[in-house]
Amino acid sequence: MQQTTLTPGFAADFQCIGGDCEDHCCQGWTIALDKASCKRYKKCGDIEIRQLAEQITISKDSQQNWGKMGLNEQGNCLFMDHGGLCQIHSKLGHKALSPTCQTYPRSTRVQGALRFESMTISCPEVCRKVLFSANAFQFSASQSGSNVVGLAAPAWVEVAHNCATAMLSESSLNWRTALYAIGLLAEFVEGIEKDPMAALRIEHFAQALLNKARQGELGCHFSQLPNTNNHHNRMLQAVVVWLQQNGPLSHKQSRGASRRQQAMQALEALLQGGQLQIEPLQQAQQQVLDPYLDEQPQLMAQFLFYRLYHNGFPAATDSPIAQFVDIAFDCFLLEHYLLAISVQQGQLSDADVVQVFQSYHSTRFHNKQFTKFLREILKEYRCNTVAAAVALLKR
Ligand code: SF4
Repeated sequence: MQQTTLTPGFAADFQCIGGDCEDHCCQGWTIALDKASCKRYKKCGDIEIRQLAEQITISKDSQQNWGKMGLNEQGNCLFMDHGGLCQIHSKLGHKALSPTCQTYPRSTRVQGALRFESMTISCPEVCRKVLFSANAFQFSASQSGSNVVGLAAPAWVEVAHNCATAMLSESSLNWRTALYAIGLLAEFVEGIEKDPMAALRIEHFAQALLNKARQGELGCHFSQLPNTNNHHNRMLQAVVVWLQQNGPLSHKQSRGASRRQQAMQALEALLQGGQLQIEPLQQAQQQVLDPYLDEQPQLMAQFLFYRLYHNGFPAATDSPIAQFVDIAFDCFLLEHYLLAISVQQGQLSDADVVQVFQSYHSTRFHNKQFTKFLREILKEYRCNTVAAAVALLKR
């Protein structure tokens, strides 16, 4: 069987902007090198590369993680030149890069005979394309030329994924209500894997949800959910305190740290005295963030499409409810970062939005400790249910 590759527009159109990048991927990250790359650089014919390669610390943790490249005082990879370009790339060509450097920010997911191309939004240029590009989610299909077939997802996973994206595409739902509908779907599919009729039951459930959405019932239910400022306050406090105190995220040279710092400081200012400042927050919502999102109506929907697509929601290997709670909580936190910046600046630009989403995902997607912590804190504060996570979406 021939493998088919599906490529979304944001991945097809991507081009690295190199020295113009506002948060270069050669900055602030531990750059792990495989065994072959370590050897290639240390024995390179180019004397400058060879001398720089002396700064590779050999750890031999695994074939893929054989050594680590040194960083300069600014936290940049030592192979980066003054123009922000990689010397391995410019002197030896793309193929001489280590597998990690060749691949980033691309990623792929193989499911049955389908290969899903994606990219991580920890890269600012990918983030811009995902959030703002009109064709970000127009897909093209091509034969990959490979006969490799991966493990097929159970039928219920595929149906649930299609139903979740249908909620986001439903014109009668705004992004909050669509996410509420996806939460109800996640609750329905939790534990359904053993049911031989799972796929059919999910389809019926999703159709009933869509009917309710079109009749305005779903929007009505969502608007009648209580506003829970205390709940918001408690969750923000808990997360901000942890973010302030924990090593890898508070480390000044970690990837995106200075870009996250601005949003964090703005958020801390809103939490002064241990209480969320509701009035400035509401003003910023009405006067800055809502008008901005009216101008960019695709933004949150495209972000959610991305999260469903990139992670293959609902992955059969994890609880659908937990996956939904993760996404809802991320929306809650990202929205509060944007609100905090809006309060501080009195305005919001596209660059601010890219900064918030990209720098957040440079830890969210690349730091397992962060994900583990979030799940722990969501459990501790009893925010690990669909109802509690949906309450975070209320404004
Ligand atoms: S983060 Fe993205 S745009 Fe920036 S240098 Fe890396 S690949 Fe290029």
